[in-house]
Amino acid sequence: MAYVIAEPCIGTKDTACVDVCPVDCIHPRKDEIGFEDAGQLYIDPDECIDCGACVPVCPVAAIFPKEDLPERWAHFAKVNAEYYEKKAQSGPDQKVAVSQAILK
Ligand code: SF4
Ligand code: SF4
Repeated sequence: MAYVIAEPCIGTKDTACVDVCPVDCIHPRKDEIGFEDAGQLYIDPDECIDCGACVPVCPVAAIFPKEDLPERWAHFAKVNAEYYEKKAQSGPDQKVAVSQAILK
């Protein structure tokens, strides 16, 4: 199981959940490449320890245990997981290296 961020995060994205997550499994953080372009934040299903700490701090009630996702947002489990699958494929370090090269 894992927790999942659903539709209400879109347009809010205040990162309150990032600050309380004990295992740093919610991304992108404000200091990471891609934060500005991300439509919402995503929970890594392989890293989440199901502690629930992120749920009460979310101002728009966007976070649910996967099995409690409202039906209309059920696809967000896949949306969250795919963010990390794509990140692993594209290689985040490579992106950082590219951006640093541009800055030079
Ligand atoms: S349930 Fe806990 S471990 Fe999972 S994303 Fe929320 S704060 Fe992080
Ligand atoms: S606290 Fe809620 S709205 Fe804010 S970034 Fe996290 S999931 Fe999105």
